[in-house]
Amino acid sequence: MRTEGEKWLSAKLRGIQRLEGYSLADTAEEVAKRLEFGLGDVVKLNANENLFIPREKLLELLREVVEAWDPRVYPQEEERGLKEKLADYLGVSPGQIVVGNGSDELIQQITQLLEDHEQALSVEPTFSMYRHSVSARGAEYVCVPLRNDFSLDSDRILRAMTPRSRILFLCSPNNPTANQFGTDDVRSLVKDFPGLVVIDEAYVEFAGHSMLSLLNEFENVIVLRTFSKAFGLAGLRLGYAVASSEFAETCSERVQGPFPVSSFTLRVGAKMLSHRDIVDNAIEQLKAEREKLIQRLNEVDGIKAFDSQTNFVLFQTSTRSDRVRQRLVSKGVLVKNLGEVLHLKDCLRATVGLPQMNVRLLDALEEILREDVSPTNH
Ligand code: PMP
Repeated sequence: MRTEGEKWLSAKLRGIQRLEGYSLADTAEEVAKRLEFGLGDVVKLNANENLFIPREKLLELLREVVEAWDPRVYPQEEERGLKEKLADYLGVSPGQIVVGNGSDELIQQITQLLEDHEQALSVEPTFSMYRHSVSARGAEYVCVPLRNDFSLDSDRILRAMTPRSRILFLCSPNNPTANQFGTDDVRSLVKDFPGLVVIDEAYVEFAGHSMLSLLNEFENVIVLRTFSKAFGLAGLRLGYAVASSEFAETCSERVQGPFPVSSFTLRVGAKMLSHRDIVDNAIEQLKAEREKLIQRLNEVDGIKAFDSQTNFVLFQTSTRSDRVRQRLVSKGVLVKNLGEVLHLKDCLRATVGLPQMNVRLLDALEEILREDVSPTNH
C-alpha cells in the first residue's frame, strides 16, 4: 500500500513531467564521441557562447581569484563588491541590482510573482525560458507574433493585454531574430502594461543601445543582463537584474535565499569588470567577424542571412533546415535548427565563432547546399 505522501508526490511529479522541458543544445563531447572526432574538431555554434574572450587570459584571472579566495566561509562582502562594480559599469546605484545563478534563475524568480490566474505575455519567436518558467509556475503564457520585419507589433500586444496580464517579457536584442526593439515602442508598451515589463538584454553589449534609461522613467521595469555572453563566462552562471531599489531590495532580501551566488562566482564577475579591456576587445573582434560572416553567408547560393545585433546570426536556407542541421552535425558543426520563423521557412541560428570556426561552417554549408537536390519553394 502506498502512503498518502507517496500518492501525493507521485501525482505531483506526473503533473510536472507533463510540462514541456527546456531542451539543451548538443554538447561538443557527445558529438565528438558519436562521430569519433577529436574534441577540438567539433565546432560548437549552437549556444551563443563567446569564444572571443581568450581562455588563457581568463585562466590567469581565475588563478588570481583562487589565490585570494577562502571557500571555507560563506560569501561575505563579495555580493556588495560585485554590485558596486556593476553599478559603476551601468551608471545605476548598487541597491538597484539583484544577482542570480545565471539570468535563467532570475527569470524563474521573477515568474514567481504570478498568481495562478494571471498571465505573462511575450512575443514569438523569442527566448524559450519565458514560456518554460511561466508554465512551470502554472500561469498562462500568451505570445504575440513579431511583425515580418522582426519589429514589435505594439498594437497587437496592446490588444492581447488583459487585466490579468502581469509580466511582459521583451528580449532585446531578441533571441533568435538578433534585432533590437525601438526604445519608443517599448516605452509606450510600458505605459499601458498593467504589470511588470522585463527587458532581457542578455546580448546588449553586442548591440547599439540599452534600455536601462527606462528605469529612470518607470518603476515597473526590470532589465536582465548576464555574464554568459559578452563576458564569456557561460559556465560560471552569473546573471543580474537591474530594477527599482524597492524591487531589488525586496527580491534580494525576501525572494532569494541568503547566498544566491557563490563567493567564487561573485569574485570572478568583479575581476572581469576590472578588466573591461579584455571584454571590449573581444566585442570589437566579434562584431567584425559577425559582419564578415553575414556577408559570406549571403554569398552562398541558397542562404539568406539577417542583420545581427548579437553574437549569433539567423539565416534561412533554401532546403529543409532540419536536414541542413543534421548534415552539419555529421561534419562536426553544431548550430540550432529553428525551422519556421514567422513567414520564413527553414531557419537556423549560428553563433559567431572564431574565424576558423566560421570558415568550417561556411565550407560545410556550401557543400551541403550544393549537394542538395530537393529545394523547397521559397
Ligand atoms: N536571456 C537570453 C535572451 C538568452 O539567450 C540566454 C541564454 N541563452 C539567457 C537569457 C540565459 O543566460 P544565462 O546564461 O545568464 O542564464
